[in-house]
Order: sequence, then structure tokens, then C-alpha cells
Amino acid sequence: MIKANDPTRKSWVEVPADSDFPIQNLPFGVFRTKSNPTPRLCTAIGENVVDLAMLNYLDLLDELELDNEVFSNRYLNDLMALGKPVARRLRDRLAELLDERNDEAKDLAWHFLHPMDKVELLLPVHVGDYTDFYSSLEHATNVGSMFRPDNPLLPNWKHLPVGYHGRASSIVASGTPIVRPNGQTLPQGSEQPVFGPTKLMDFELEMAFVVGKPNPLGKPIPIENAEEHIFGLMLFNDWSARDIQSWEYVPLGPFLAKNFASTASPWVVMLDALEPFRTAGPSQDPTPLPYLKTTGEHSFDLHLEVEIRAENGASAVVSRSNFKYMYWNMAQQLAHHTVNGCNMNIGDLCGSGTISGPTPDSYGSMLELTWRGSKPLQLSDGSERKFINDGDTVTLRGWGEKDGIRIGFGEAAGKVLPAII
Ligand code: CA
Repeated sequence: MIKANDPTRKSWVEVPADSDFPIQNLPFGVFRTKSNPTPRLCTAIGENVVDLAMLNYLDLLDELELDNEVFSNRYLNDLMALGKPVARRLRDRLAELLDERNDEAKDLAWHFLHPMDKVELLLPVHVGDYTDFYSSLEHATNVGSMFRPDNPLLPNWKHLPVGYHGRASSIVASGTPIVRPNGQTLPQGSEQPVFGPTKLMDFELEMAFVVGKPNPLGKPIPIENAEEHIFGLMLFNDWSARDIQSWEYVPLGPFLAKNFASTASPWVVMLDALEPFRTAGPSQDPTPLPYLKTTGEHSFDLHLEVEIRAENGASAVVSRSNFKYMYWNMAQQLAHHTVNGCNMNIGDLCGSGTISGPTPDSYGSMLELTWRGSKPLQLSDGSERKFINDGDTVTLRGWGEKDGIRIGFGEAAGKVLPAII
């Protein structure tokens, strides 16, 4: 077993029962404070963040023999570049320091422990390239049946993980406001497009994995090695403008309907911390080609949900889904992405695609939940939503839970602001 995952370990830091961040999680993030605006690496424990640059300054990370620049850093990329074994040793050491038996660290806590609600959590990864897959069978079937009733699932879908290259520059940290995009749409029954704010603003409930180990150009990542290239996971909302999308997407796929913003959680949870939640994925028929064939458990049982909160405080959890519903697993996605020799770099991000489950309350977008607006959802004050209104905050949450230990991702939240016209 991975040392830091020891389920019997307890921390001297108080961890509320429903916290995403027990001592068995120890995700990585980047933060700054008002009094010290220099960004630096951190981990989370209960309702606090731990300043890793300060831990290193206090000689508490000496055994790792890492430069302070690794910790006093705007991004996690330099830490990831040292390799997963180094990050594993760091996570093990953090578990020792936060262990209830560690009085030395506890006595120094006032130097490195900050209440999470008093710090600013930044986008922790410098994302060079971003790819978004389309790997939920339920999502692909739902969307396909709306746009192509006779032919919902295209013939390639069960043979390869379909994806497209997205835009890294507009990936933002949780809490960043999202301005409703303007664009071209084709009004129903019209042959001429119009320009203006999207009327069909939507979220997509996704997870994203962060590449922590590169492969050289021309050298594919074999599927059996793929997970060693995946550093960890984040929550990911691939904001989508459905009316812009339906007008632009033929023949080359999504473009301006997607690239105006995507919201990521501030925490990267190492794949190691998610080991307890490994599970078998859906059975795959037809059998994938040999380069895509996995045996054993490569899916993860992670509960996911989406909340909409209006400006007046009315809210509703509108979707409850699970990462295990994905038809194609992450190892298959990465093996496929590189099978032609495409090189991945440290910090590259791969979105899972919208994660819809088998039941209507588990669909991962408003497009599906309201079936293109034909079945509006209700918030707690009775107000209806077909898509997302200005002033609404959409929050993604996700966690695995086993034997009373919950390993979570925090939140990926964004408030939609009116379009600029
Ligand atoms: Ca997507």
C-alpha cells in the first residue's frame, strides 16, 4: 500500500467529517495570501492549506533535497518534472508531518498553516496543451439522438476515444467569473445567422487528468505505462454555448462554443490518493484494438455533482453522476492520443468529456438534463432553468468515499456574468 494512503492515520489538524481533505488525500495546489502575494505550492488538510515553501524553509522537507524554487513556484509543473517518485516521497513526508504523533511540526504550525477561506487558490498547472475527449457513452448517445435521431452513435465511437484539441489559454481557476460569450447563431427557421450573446449557456461536468511525464515526439505511450504518465486529476467544467455550437460544429467540430472558458478545481489530487476507488469500467463491446486493450481496474468510483445557485440564493443540485460511467478510461485515452507519435508535455490537460450516467438525474449538462430546454429544472424557490442564467453560479464537486474516508477535489465554481454588448 502507498504509505500516505494509510487509512488508520490521523492528523493533529482538525478535519471535519465531510471534508474533502483528510490526511489520506494531500492534493497539490498553488496559493498566495494578502500579506505574502508570492505564489507558492501548498497542500490541503481539513479547512486549511499548508505552505510547502515555508515547510522547506523550516527544514522540514530536508530529506527530499529539493531546491526552494520547486516550492516557491507559480505552478506545479517543476515539481511534476521531477517525476512521480519524488512527488510520492513528498506526499509521504507531508503525511508524517501532519500525523497526530508529530509534535515538532505541530509546534511550528503557525508558520505554515493558513485557513483555506483566507487564501487565494490559483490555477495550479501551467497548461500547455488541452485536449477534450467525448468518452461517456450515455452523453454521446443523448447528444447524438438530439441532433441525429436516426443515427445517434457514429460508427467510430466504440472503436476509439473521440476527442478534439481545445484551447489552453482560457482555462481558469475556480472562482473566476465567466462572461457570457457573444457569437453567431442560426435562429430556428431562419437561413441567416445573427450575432449576439448565447441564449443557451451550458456547463459540462468533467474530470481532467494532468500529464506529469512527457513522451518524445514519435514515441507512443504504451497502454500499460499510461497511468505512470498521469500525475493526478482535477474537476473540470467545459463551459459550452449550445446555439453557437450547433451552427459552427460542422465540419470541424467545436470552436468558439467552447474556447471562451473552462473552469478547473484548484487542487490536483494525485492518482495515488485515488487508488482505493479503483473499479472495473463498463464492458467494452466490440473488443478494442490491441493498443487500446486494458485488463484489470482502470476506472475510478468518484461521485460527481453539479449545483446551480442563483443570485438570490435559490439553488439546486441538478446532477449526480460518477466518473466510473466513462466508457473509455484514462489509460485508453492517453494511449490513443499518442499512438500516432504525438508528444505530450508536462502540464498537458485531458478532459474526460461530459460524464453522464444512465439515469436522467445523472446527466452532465443542461442540454441533456432539460432535453434541449423541453423539460426545465427547478431551483429551491421554484424558478425554472432551461440553461444557465446571468448571475447563476455553477459549482462542480467530486469525491470518493470508502471506510469513512472521503478523498475529494474541493470545488470548480464559476459565476456567469452578462455578455458585453
Ligand atoms: Ca466537453
